[in-house]
Amino acid sequence: MSYDVIIIGTGPGGYVAAIKAAQLGLKVAVVEKRATFGGTCLNVGCIPSKALLHASEMFHHAGHGMEALGIEVTAPKLNLEKMLAHKDTTVKANVDGVAFLFKKNKIDAFQGTGKIVSAGKVSVMGDDGKAQEIEGKNIVIATGSDVAGIPGVQVEFDEKVIISSTGGIALEKVPETMIVVGGGVIGLELGSVWSRLGAKVTVVEYLDTILGGMDGDVAKQFQRMLAKQGIDFNLGAKVVGVEKGGKGAKVTFEPVKGGDKVTLDAEVVLIATGRMPYTEGLGLEEAGVKLDNRGRVEINGHFSTNVAGIYAIGDVVKGPMLAHKAEDEGVALAEILAGQAGHVNYDVIPSVVYTQPEVASVGKTEEELKVAGIAYKVGKFPFTANGRARAMLATDGFVKILSDKATDRVLGGHIVGFGAGEMIHEIAVLMEFGGSAEDLGRTCHGHPTMSEAVKEAALAAFFKPIHM
Ligand code: FAD
Repeated sequence: MSYDVIIIGTGPGGYVAAIKAAQLGLKVAVVEKRATFGGTCLNVGCIPSKALLHASEMFHHAGHGMEALGIEVTAPKLNLEKMLAHKDTTVKANVDGVAFLFKKNKIDAFQGTGKIVSAGKVSVMGDDGKAQEIEGKNIVIATGSDVAGIPGVQVEFDEKVIISSTGGIALEKVPETMIVVGGGVIGLELGSVWSRLGAKVTVVEYLDTILGGMDGDVAKQFQRMLAKQGIDFNLGAKVVGVEKGGKGAKVTFEPVKGGDKVTLDAEVVLIATGRMPYTEGLGLEEAGVKLDNRGRVEINGHFSTNVAGIYAIGDVVKGPMLAHKAEDEGVALAEILAGQAGHVNYDVIPSVVYTQPEVASVGKTEEELKVAGIAYKVGKFPFTANGRARAMLATDGFVKILSDKATDRVLGGHIVGFGAGEMIHEIAVLMEFGGSAEDLGRTCHGHPTMSEAVKEAALAAFFKPIHM
């Protein structure tokens, strides 16, 4: 049997590419070394973290957010075992869903570690140590990413005291204290989970800001909100050592600008310093597939590596390490392999931080526009001036729209606030169609909704908002 396409890895990139290719009439095989499909995202990433973020938010809300609404409840009691079981059930439903979709689309799944033998040939090593070879016209590398450590620092993960995000979704007890190394999305999401459940969380971050790369206004306001929730921050701090000791583990850091070292200890230390492309054992060197200077598989504009018939998508290639970016690349590549014109618009990839309030962003930040020398207008609208937000006691945050000064075309949208991760998509759709701030501001929005703040921010960008 020869396949049209063999996909190595079944994360959001690989499984979506497989389904789309099968829908377009191609004969598809997938190879997965994990026991279940769905990759990092479904097994140990997006889905389990969101299950815990939601559950911990409900717990926190029951204890802190109800009285002001006239609901008197006794202090909620945490059943962590049940909360983790909810997470596991959610993961199972999702990974089983992928297995179902593979069957429905007649995709052959091979369990084992895939290695490229040469263009057109993949060997699959099963857990039983037996290898089999499968052949296909095209091979797709969708092997994703793995936890990155701290450059120059030896970190020994035991996933109990010194943990990665994988340990961070499975702690059996709420630690009294937690240090999070890395103030990016994963660190702040998981830090929020354990903070809401009772841990005293301290973030240590190399940069002068959390959420590096996000709009500066947004990052500043978001940090203030998290500080109000009880999270402490050490910014501009370079971690030089992580080791067991003290209450559990010790983290030593020094100011990036120079100065004395500081050592803090905590029951648990979460290392959330990012992820690196995963290409181990794939046989890329033997197959002659080139990597770039950051260890990512090098691809051209059509996801093709330097070896004909071998492609790559998702976290293992350049671009933001996000599930929906991997998915869109999977769809585009499947279309290309089926003879169509697949395309991903990298200028419109939303990113969301699923804390409370949420942070969501699409397109350019103010900082990026300044560097690019593009003249722009800013429209900002706070949720304090939004009726629905007041009714829900969700007035924290704002919407910010950035538009081209000359053409009014929307270049970026940034939201901090309840439901930001849902609201961002109207800005994304508008941008996909090249819409202007005036288009957005003149679009009738349901009342009363949080989304009216998006409309008002757009009105502010091209003329004046009504409610401010
Ligand atoms: P992966 O999902 O990493 O899948 C790769 C698969 O390939 C794995 O199953 C692996 O076992 C398999 N594999 C690797 N090598 C081989 C081999 N040789 N043979 C066979 N199989 C192999 N992104 C978001 O967009 N939203 C979120 O909310 C979000 N939350 C996250 C939370 C956490 C805690 C983490 C860690 C990540 C989160 N991400 C989130 C990032 C997201 O998980 C990744 O961007 C996404 O999973 C990348 O998809 P992928 O298909 O490229 O790779």
